[in-house]
Amino acid sequence: MKRDYYEVLGVTKSATNDEIKSSYRKLALKYHPDKNPGNKEAEEKFKEINEAYEILSDGQKRRQYDTFGHNANGAGGNPFGGQGGYTQYTSGDFSNMGDIFGDIFGDILGAQGGRRSGRASSQQRRGEDLRYDVDISYIEAMNGADISINIPKKELCSSCRGTGSKDGSAPKQCPQCKGSGQVRYSQGFFSFSQECPQCHGRGTVITNPCPECRGEGAVRKRKTVKVRVPAGVDEGTSLKVSGSGNAGANGAPSGDLYVVVHMKQALGFRRDGENLYTDISISFSQAAMGVEYDVPVLQGSVKVKIPPGTQPGTTLRVREQGFVRLGRKNRGDLFVKVNVSVPKSMNDTQKKALFEYAKSMGEISQDSKYQSDNFFKKIFG
Ligand SMILES: [Zn+2]
Ligand SMILES: [Zn+2]
Repeated sequence: MKRDYYEVLGVTKSATNDEIKSSYRKLALKYHPDKNPGNKEAEEKFKEINEAYEILSDGQKRRQYDTFGHNANGAGGNPFGGQGGYTQYTSGDFSNMGDIFGDIFGDILGAQGGRRSGRASSQQRRGEDLRYDVDISYIEAMNGADISINIPKKELCSSCRGTGSKDGSAPKQCPQCKGSGQVRYSQGFFSFSQECPQCHGRGTVITNPCPECRGEGAVRKRKTVKVRVPAGVDEGTSLKVSGSGNAGANGAPSGDLYVVVHMKQALGFRRDGENLYTDISISFSQAAMGVEYDVPVLQGSVKVKIPPGTQPGTTLRVREQGFVRLGRKNRGDLFVKVNVSVPKSMNDTQKKALFEYAKSMGEISQDSKYQSDNFFKKIFG
């Protein structure tokens, strides 16, 4: 006898696509063959989970399943002919799992405590996802960082260990809906169902509620969550911390925490994607004759050879002094814009030297003689 696909995934018949996907991910990770080598039971479960997910994640197949049950899969049982027939999960066929496993292993952090196992039933609701915004410095974004954030969130109630019950007794079937979570109403010819008002759709009620959490199984408190910020994050990057959202009611799985990154400006630097931009100012003689210049970077400085004859506004590129691209090894570049500064005041010796220079360049007549402070005004006007 085949198990109900909703039951297999531990979701309700009205579960949204996100709920189905989330539940599937958790179960698929738990029973993945890589994690359970040689475990036949886990392998069977894994097949079952994948089969259920393949049907329930596809709108059309799900509708057929809702209407015809497992028969939709049988020979001749599918009223839509071959077109919408289900394909069975076959061992080793991971082709349809690429995206979801990409998602899972792309998660920045695995489960961070707070996740409990074994108690999820089809009546339980996963806790809400949470969002938290953090400011990250350029240096942190360049190197990656471990940060701690302190957030108010729902945590599993420690007094009742999430059962919601004062004496530890298991929740009882809701007398009003008989555990379905839905109640039917009839009005004339019509009948419709609604979320059960007594158990709020859970299908169970707590007879002796825990005073700490008033039967919810979860309490609100501040919690410190460690978040690994990978090198390369940028404005708007969202880091998912699985299982660190709100605890679900009565021991249901926790939601996820999404940490959204904002970049703190760093004085003197601009960032564009993986590249870093800065400006330096060198003197006229350095620009003319070339110089090896210590360009300040986020941490320390790098030596940059400025070639002779560099014009004001020239941008030099220093390879691999930028940010890494998220999830990659290679770095972007540093672009250094070179400004040339003109001295605002000079002493007599300097002025005389510059006079001789100007003369040699033919800017001043060869028989002129350097005389006084006001001399330049006369000739350069
Ligand atoms: Zn009920
Ligand atoms: Zn409690």
